[in-house]
Amino acid sequence: MSPFEQTNFFLSKAFAVAKLGEAVQRNLLSPRRELQCKLSVQLDNGRTETFTGYRVQHDNSRGPFKGGIRYHHEVNLDEVRSLASLMTWKTAVVNIPFGGAKGAVLCRPGELSANEKQRLTRALVRALHEVIGPDKDIPAPDVGTSATEMAWFVDEFELLHGFAPGVVTGKPLELGGSLGRDAATGRGTLFAIREILRLAGAGEITGKTFAVQGFGNVGTWAARLIAAEGGRIIAVTNSQTGIYNQKGLDAEAIWAEYQKGDRSYSKTAGEKITNADLLALDCDVLVPAALGGVLTAENAGRVRAKFIAEAANHPVTPEADEMLRQKGVVLIPDILCNAGGVTVSYFEWVQNAQRAAWSELKVNAELELKMTEACRSVWSLARENNVDLRTAAFLLAIKRVAAATTLRGFH
Ligand code: GLU
Repeated sequence: MSPFEQTNFFLSKAFAVAKLGEAVQRNLLSPRRELQCKLSVQLDNGRTETFTGYRVQHDNSRGPFKGGIRYHHEVNLDEVRSLASLMTWKTAVVNIPFGGAKGAVLCRPGELSANEKQRLTRALVRALHEVIGPDKDIPAPDVGTSATEMAWFVDEFELLHGFAPGVVTGKPLELGGSLGRDAATGRGTLFAIREILRLAGAGEITGKTFAVQGFGNVGTWAARLIAAEGGRIIAVTNSQTGIYNQKGLDAEAIWAEYQKGDRSYSKTAGEKITNADLLALDCDVLVPAALGGVLTAENAGRVRAKFIAEAANHPVTPEADEMLRQKGVVLIPDILCNAGGVTVSYFEWVQNAQRAAWSELKVNAELELKMTEACRSVWSLARENNVDLRTAAFLLAIKRVAAATTLRGFH
């Protein structure tokens, strides 16, 4: 199954429980609009390189399309479609007034200079500007992008359309970004883990062991916040290498090295491990926080964790999902677990519309409310319908999106 087929497979399981009409089901399975564009960018050496960009707008029945933009060398239209669809369900699970979208540029951001990335980002805005806007479609950072790209993005859009800070979220604070947005996906993951552990009767984060796969924006924040709450981070990995220490790693120290650009973990006490080793570690909670498709039919049998917190988007394939559930592993699905990022994006957009700035305390408290409420709703739907948490999360989301679609008369 391709990534989009996998997402629709999970969706279909919830359709079977939701008992929606045939027409609305078909409507929700396909994106509203897909855009593919050619981006010609002059490199620093004077040569012109042509990149491919995508924006898939999946659904906007509950509000403007919303979702990040990924810069990666392995992305394709099918995966962007899957990620756009996941955004529709994610915004519905946390009940924020947005739809779902995703964008991507096929490139190797690590091999481009800051100037090249700026030109690429501005070219992308010029290609997309007619179909995006604060009330149309609001991009944000994703894998390979950050507040830096969002700053160029808002600037280029404003050159074309005038002042419009709400066209993109995840901006630097100086340009209307929100306090707490950088940490939001990791913090939301912490809240989701904390609440699901409680609902499952498994106790608190304190003293539990965690393995975090992917030490980028989401993984670093999740690890640091889990450690601050008394969780023991026993392993972390990135795309190159990893480190394991049963006694617990110093997440703050590793983060300090990461900030200096050192991703070797050479100053950290512990054993070197690979991604495959990490996924098979005996721990309470496994946190995949990087790319999709990391837990598959090939490696799911080796998983020994009791809980999997999907901080990444679609880290578990349908076959692996089935195998893990058979083993009794509790999976906190991506559309719930990593919804903290887009939730604080919503807070940023609200602040932009109000020309206001919330305190970090307020942002974090509102995020906690949203995440806790979503976890409880998903948990009780799972109990009522005797389904797993993923199916319950999709069920909650499709009920909300289907209601909006039907009320609009399918327009
Ligand atoms: N890229 C993040 C996600 O996958 C955030 C999206 C947003 O804030 O719009 O949820």
